[in-house]
Amino acid sequence: MSLLGLMKNTGCYAAIRAFRQDALTVLTAHGVVPPASQLPWQPLREQVDVETFARQIDVISQHHEWVDLDGALRHLRGEHRYRNPVLMTFDDGYRNNLDIALPVLEAQGIKPLLFVTTGYLNNARPFWFDRFDYVIQQIDRPWTLRVDTREFTFRPGVASQMARVYQQLRGYAKRKGWEDHEFHDFFSDACRELESYTGKSLAVIQADDPWSATVSGEQLRDAVHRNAIDVGSHTIDHMRIDKLNPQDRMRQLVESRRILEEITGKPCISFCYPNGDWDHQSTVDVAQAGYQIAFSVDGGLNRPGTNLYTIRRVFVPTRFSEAQVEALSCGALSLKENFNNWLSSV
Ligand SMILES: [Zn+2]
Repeated sequence: MSLLGLMKNTGCYAAIRAFRQDALTVLTAHGVVPPASQLPWQPLREQVDVETFARQIDVISQHHEWVDLDGALRHLRGEHRYRNPVLMTFDDGYRNNLDIALPVLEAQGIKPLLFVTTGYLNNARPFWFDRFDYVIQQIDRPWTLRVDTREFTFRPGVASQMARVYQQLRGYAKRKGWEDHEFHDFFSDACRELESYTGKSLAVIQADDPWSATVSGEQLRDAVHRNAIDVGSHTIDHMRIDKLNPQDRMRQLVESRRILEEITGKPCISFCYPNGDWDHQSTVDVAQAGYQIAFSVDGGLNRPGTNLYTIRRVFVPTRFSEAQVEALSCGALSLKENFNNWLSSV
């Protein structure tokens, strides 16, 4: 039996939940996809399939009280006390959030919060990370991308090798400290080069692709009007706001909010940092742009009275394990992480 399984069977998670019953868990995923056999291509970035997602939601429902955005805010502000509350969020604005994940959630009366990138609505264009993911898998001989003096070589036909190199490339590019426009330009140029070399482009199939298709304004409006979802902003262009100049940053924050309010007819009060990147100035600007709460991807749970502009979240795992879901949702894994950090700092 695994350590996580042993902890579950000896009641560790139940004890942690009892001890931390005032902590809000915020779950996050990008998308939920049909079974692999029904996908026209397999993204290197692993996704949660609908069956795994449904089983995970069942496990969480046994131990937590689901809340929507309003409930989460009231809990964190100390206006209402839920017991082991949990909120479901999705990042980026994929159509599968509504087509595939929402029916699973609605069946249990769960109202998720979708963070939408307004410049990508209605399949205006694929996200650069999906565009690159798709086209790199179309090569028929090794292809090398150079950044500074580093070389990243992708080999055709070996998905695990490609996924590893893709991760190294993204990591290296992120650490370079580029302004986000430079970062986007670099990857857009690489995509263009690959698309002309392979003659393939994700944009051609995006509208029918269960993974990369994005929601339309009309779909969002319908779901908001039947009270099935809440909608928050994820900027216009999926920009890491801490890597933008002050004018661009405020435009991304204010304009995306205005567009979403126009679409849904409701106030847009929540924001999610693209790539989870934030700094102190970002939190100040998000508040100034009119948002009441902002979500990061820093791991862990949230207690009442916490800073509302740096809300922690937990990723939904891509494979099903009851013990792992319980460990994540009660915060046991983030406690372990914090303990390891503490050990390495003493
Ligand atoms: Zn994102």
